[in-house]
Amino acid sequence: MPDKTTPLELVTIPCLADNYAFLLHNTETGDTLLVDAPEAAPIQDALDALGWTLTDILLTHHHSDHVDGLPFLRGTARVIGAAADAHRLPPLDVAVAEGETISICGEDALVLDVSGHTLGHIAVHFATSGVVFTADSLMAMGCGRLFEGSPEMMWDSLQKLRALPDDTRVCSGHEYTQTNASFALTIEPENQDLISRVQEIATARAARQPTVPSNLGIEKQTNPFLRADNPDLQAAIGMANADPAAAFAHIRKKRDTF
Ligand code: ZN
Ligand code: FE
Repeated sequence: MPDKTTPLELVTIPCLADNYAFLLHNTETGDTLLVDAPEAAPIQDALDALGWTLTDILLTHHHSDHVDGLPFLRGTARVIGAAADAHRLPPLDVAVAEGETISICGEDALVLDVSGHTLGHIAVHFATSGVVFTADSLMAMGCGRLFEGSPEMMWDSLQKLRALPDDTRVCSGHEYTQTNASFALTIEPENQDLISRVQEIATARAARQPTVPSNLGIEKQTNPFLRADNPDLQAAIGMANADPAAAFAHIRKKRDTF
């Protein structure tokens, strides 16, 4: 049984120009999960500094900026990824699919299919610790570009993430928050929650602090891509009573050229 009184320790590691990798660590067993492997050096440095050894590696999707460091880091760790993406991911030890539960670091984690950015992109939710790893699906005030999936598919994926508890920490894959914030303001210039969050983001970035992980409850109030069915947002974009997937598609298209 996982110890419900001891949430897993979460560490954020900046990689490459604007990527994030994450470590999740069980202080009692020493088990350590790495989520995505953009590049090896900063991740190995963090492991060395903490005295941790990887037992598990989770790959969210096949893009090179999430997997290229894997060969240098995998060692004897168990590599977990989507069955649907196994043909283009590095060799997996465990292939998972939507709705499956897998024990990682002593905690039961739920696998969600969040396709849209790519087909086969997964997110993994650790309910006891209140953490979800979303990579390039749900991002802080944004969402990933639709390289492979349709707007309907991404809207469906984001609704699965939106259904998680408000106090969930959202560990997304990139520091795009300031651009996302500027864009969000063009969509909902009168959203007061958004206006105050944009100021907090500017302060954090001026101090070179990461804005990831973010809080899911705040995302629900300020992320336009989670609000495509919100009457205020729909009114703000001149699409009152629109099909939410159509409103989502409209916002995503505007973001592509922002
Ligand atoms: Zn990607
Ligand atoms: Fe990425």
